[in-house]
Amino acid sequence: MSNLVVAIDGPAGAGKSTVAQLAAKELGYTYIDTGAMYRAVAWKALQKKEPVTDELILSVLPDIEVDLQYVDGKTKVFVDGRDVTGEIRTPEINKIVSQVAKLGPVREKMVNLQRKMGERGAVLMDGRDIATNVLPNADVKIFLTASIEERAKRRWKELKEKGYDVDMEEIQSEIAARDKADSEREISPLVQAEDAVLLDTTGLSIDEVVNKILGMCR
Ligand code: C5P
Repeated sequence: MSNLVVAIDGPAGAGKSTVAQLAAKELGYTYIDTGAMYRAVAWKALQKKEPVTDELILSVLPDIEVDLQYVDGKTKVFVDGRDVTGEIRTPEINKIVSQVAKLGPVREKMVNLQRKMGERGAVLMDGRDIATNVLPNADVKIFLTASIEERAKRRWKELKEKGYDVDMEEIQSEIAARDKADSEREISPLVQAEDAVLLDTTGLSIDEVVNKILGMCR
């Protein structure tokens, strides 16, 4: 297949990274998880062990180095050379990441990096503003979603498997709060691009969703 640029956006817990990773592997493309980049900034802010204010977040930004490495179909996330892949998907980071991502200077730095990574083509990038802002000329644009109940269930399962003692209702309200913050923020809010295809994954298996994405690329 030619070197397409594929953009996948959608709300929290829609399964974007799971299916995007598998589809990228199938296509022989690089997968770029932009949410991981905002999580990386949140991780560095948390290392300060101070109350998380906008000032604190902006103070870690100038010299942060965020690097994504895509090896054997898996994304590894590095902050200043340290592998933080296992540390960025925690309830603590889920709580503050939207606050980090709404800040203009944070977005500017991350979007510049993302555009550079998308330049080469043969990429599948997922996030909230990929089709609308980061890669508006993407060849394939998909808006992936699922019911809030199903998304909460998936996140609950994912955290439970990692050993976190989490409550389903709490997760559902955290996801709803994050979607609200991401959709209502001023800069590049979460919205379906006019020319994106809506893919509702409620009740679909991972394989079914991956096959639909592959079909759209073909
Ligand atoms: O996709 P994931 O849930 O890991 O994203 C974490 C957070 O990063 C989102 O809730 C959103 O606040 C932010 N984000 C963003 N723009 C993107 C990707 C993620 O604002 N392109």
